[in-house]
Amino acid sequence: MSRSAEPASEALRAEGLSKTHRGESAPAHAVRGVDLFVRRGEFVAVTGPSGAGKSTLLHLLGGLQRPDSGSLWLDGERTDAYSEARWAVERRRSIGIVFQFFNLVSNLTVADNIELPALLTGVSSKRARTAREELLGELGLKGKARSMPGELSGGEQQRVALARALINQPRLLLADEPTGSLDSRGTREVMRLLSRFHARGQTILLVTHDARLASTADRVISFFDGRITDDADLSAPPAQTTRLSDVLELRD
Ligand code: ADP
Ligand code: MG
Repeated sequence: MSRSAEPASEALRAEGLSKTHRGESAPAHAVRGVDLFVRRGEFVAVTGPSGAGKSTLLHLLGGLQRPDSGSLWLDGERTDAYSEARWAVERRRSIGIVFQFFNLVSNLTVADNIELPALLTGVSSKRARTAREELLGELGLKGKARSMPGELSGGEQQRVALARALINQPRLLLADEPTGSLDSRGTREVMRLLSRFHARGQTILLVTHDARLASTADRVISFFDGRITDDADLSAPPAQTTRLSDVLELRD
């Protein structure tokens, strides 16, 4: 099914997305016909037990794995036929991804880790430096620019990973258990930053097995056995808009 006039607010859409992992052992039907629509600016959490297929779903959405079937759109543009090279460009430009284990380049400084995606898109080193400085400040990492990743705490490393994911101002941020290897303090910091970026309009899809963390989002999708089993809007209900004048008009 494909519509020609896409709603302006569409960030991400999946229809009938399926993925079976086939290895040595029995096939794992990780994602089974998922339909998903995420509006721009939404903060969506996908939660469910280990093995539910959450990471596979995130990998499909970010083009890190290919679906067996189904369709995918980013900002209204069909992406499921993208080549590997085209996906790489898309991830550099419009999708930021953070993982549980940070995946920083261990022999590059914090500054170089953050600037790398910007330099790869061809922006000048001056602009990359400016953007990096801004993010370092925002993420509470001023003074860490010259450190190596291994010298930082887990929470700090994940903040560097966030800076790296956000430096090209991606339209979509995908986060797979970003607090999964952090202590409670690191977890709080990272969740606070996600909320702050969301408040500024960043579209976020957070995968977490922790229902408590999921409730930070304004929409929580429950995932079980490769399928969406619940989709709950937690954002505040619209403010009470009935005014006395409206009531009086009705009475006239
Ligand atoms: P979650 O992130 O919710 O824990 P995953 O997407 O990692 O779930 O895994 C879903 C199912 O797919 C599990 O049964 C897992 O063992 C299987 N799986 C995930 N990745 C692979 C892979 N690369 N090869 C084979 N099986 C996989
Ligand atoms: Mg996972």
